[in-house]
Amino acid sequence: MTVTQPDHPFLTAGAVATDPCIHCGFCLPSCASYRVLGSEMDSPRGRIHMLKAIDRGELSLDATVASHFDSCLGCLACVSACPSGVRYDELIAATRPRLNAPELRTPWQRSFRALLFQLLPYPARLRALLQPLRLYAGTPLQAWARRSGLTRLLGPQLEAMERLLPALQPEAFQPSAPVLIPAQGQRRHRVGLVTGCVQRLFDPAVNRAAIELLSANGIEVVIAPEQNCCGAMTHHQGELEQTRALAKDLLSSFEAVIGPGRAAGPEPLDAVLVAASGCGHTLKQLDAILAEEPEWAVRGSAFAGQVADIQEFLHRVGLSPGFMDRLQPLRHNDGSPASADRPLRLVYHDACHMLHGQGLGQQPRQLLRQIPHVRIVEAVEAGVCCGSAGIYNLVQPDEAAELGRIKAADLSGSGADLAVSANIGCTLQIRQHMDGTTRPIPVAHPVELLLRSASGA
Ligand code: SF4
Ligand code: SF4
Repeated sequence: MTVTQPDHPFLTAGAVATDPCIHCGFCLPSCASYRVLGSEMDSPRGRIHMLKAIDRGELSLDATVASHFDSCLGCLACVSACPSGVRYDELIAATRPRLNAPELRTPWQRSFRALLFQLLPYPARLRALLQPLRLYAGTPLQAWARRSGLTRLLGPQLEAMERLLPALQPEAFQPSAPVLIPAQGQRRHRVGLVTGCVQRLFDPAVNRAAIELLSANGIEVVIAPEQNCCGAMTHHQGELEQTRALAKDLLSSFEAVIGPGRAAGPEPLDAVLVAASGCGHTLKQLDAILAEEPEWAVRGSAFAGQVADIQEFLHRVGLSPGFMDRLQPLRHNDGSPASADRPLRLVYHDACHMLHGQGLGQQPRQLLRQIPHVRIVEAVEAGVCCGSAGIYNLVQPDEAAELGRIKAADLSGSGADLAVSANIGCTLQIRQHMDGTTRPIPVAHPVELLLRSASGA
């Protein structure tokens, strides 16, 4: 994938002019922004029209035009839907840096985005902010503040942040896991684990489950203790300089613990795993992201070649025979174990950057089918974005909330007992909107379910 720099021509040479879009509109039904805004300008076809007009000098990129690109979630569903092979992902990636020109956003928009970019990718900063909020998040006070409408006084963007705030678990504030977690039994593989900037604080049980699951399957886990964000959040917003800095930091953090005399020992890793699907898509492009600096590009390429989603990796190498023997039926909400007569129905939510960005859809489902008496049911609009999309649900809260309601209703309406999501952003978004459905169901990460099944919980 080509990552165009802000000081380069608007798009990769001739990319729009030679783009094979035939304006058929096949992409429109899968487009999340078109779904909620209903305007051609907020569809992939409309945006490609605008790009061509800009390229020909017939349209200038002003604040109004920019807002139609900002309304795009970057979910890449249109890439999967397009019969002509239009690389909208490359077009929007090349466009994003231009949208960050100061004159295209209001002072409030610029300040809010700057706050997000200085806070969310840095777990130490986020943890410091969240520490006092432990007295509020998940308590009756939070419920009352929401119910009374007090949180509306924060304004739409800050209110959206508050709405995503889950009950904060004590382990999010405890020291991180050891650098090296040995495999149980005979070692089959040795992997690194990217712990995710938001995931480790907002849903730390996922990383704990991922570590236990890997270890129980004979996989040694290496965790770089100093790792920050992988850069996915800023990459999706065209903040390329910060993305490169974050990517280099992440690479360096793993390089600092692997090698002779280092904490994790000298042996190389078989893979670097990600338990938050959105991050994997960016990490697999580290060679392109760092392409301008030859030395870093080589290191980025080696790292990117090792990156795999944890579900992708476990599907590839298979669960160990010993672990498979331990798998037992999960329990229904009433406590009774799932059975052939009454299976536990799971609906798998495809994170966009997993399904459309990495082409991974069947592997997670096949992995879940290893659990006895599980039946996978499908949502009607499985490939449509939930509205989370990185920081989209914070900067475009109205559109995101509408998409969140649609997604939660779709998952709940599938008749499933449990929804499964492997991306922290999606999980928080779906949980938030599930309460508004007529039949709320819990949301869990696949690694939690596999581990629960093996432990008989
Ligand atoms: S992007 Fe593809 S699907 Fe959409 S209008 Fe163009 S050719 Fe058709
Ligand atoms: S990336 Fe998603 S929101 Fe953006 S144009 Fe494509 S389908 Fe629509």
